[in-house]
Amino acid sequence: MKKHASNSEGGSKGKRPHWSMGLLNCMADPKMKVKEDDLIVAITDGYPKAHYHYLILPKEDINTIYDLKREHEDLLTHMENIAEDLIKNHPDHEFKFGYHAKPSMQRLHLHVISLDFDSPYLKTKHHWNSFTTDIFCPAKEVHEELRRNGFVKRMTVEEYQKLLNTELKCHKCSERSKNMPGLKRHLRSHISSKD
Ligand code: AMP
Ligand code: ZN
Repeated sequence: MKKHASNSEGGSKGKRPHWSMGLLNCMADPKMKVKEDDLIVAITDGYPKAHYHYLILPKEDINTIYDLKREHEDLLTHMENIAEDLIKNHPDHEFKFGYHAKPSMQRLHLHVISLDFDSPYLKTKHHWNSFTTDIFCPAKEVHEELRRNGFVKRMTVEEYQKLLNTELKCHKCSERSKNMPGLKRHLRSHISSKD
């Protein structure tokens, strides 16, 4: 019998919930929670792709940006404000906030990530391109699209695949790298030189 693919970032088969529901458990885990109020829970990413990597999730059962409606605009503003609050703790780092065009995990989650991208969990070209190409949809742009159109348009599969396989490029300069070890070495040069 054909084996099901399992997520390399944790999870198992059997009676336990599907791995893609993992963030829902994290929302209830005091060790992962960094902030909570009536509307959201903010957690540390379990496999951080940078020095600081948080996820902000609404308590309302919204699965992805494609399920957002105009009535969620205040919630998005709130999530953006929480992101701004979180990064105040790290004035020595630059950050960006955004949603993945094709998330792997269930429940809407806003990534709040520092731009060093210095992490042992950042391993693959797909990881890199999911944070540094248009696969990463900036929070403000998603919000603006929702305000303008009343919904967020899906990226086509073709566009997504093309972006995922974009050649490796530094997000801070014109450097191109042949492989991830080379890119990671280059990224460390930005950290030490405080680019
Ligand atoms: P996305 O690709 O937007 O769905 O991102 C999901 C994020 O959740 C990634 O940054 C993962 O590192 C993180 N993640 C995946 N599984 C878990 C887990 N079980 N606990 C905590 N974080 C997780
Ligand atoms: Zn560079």
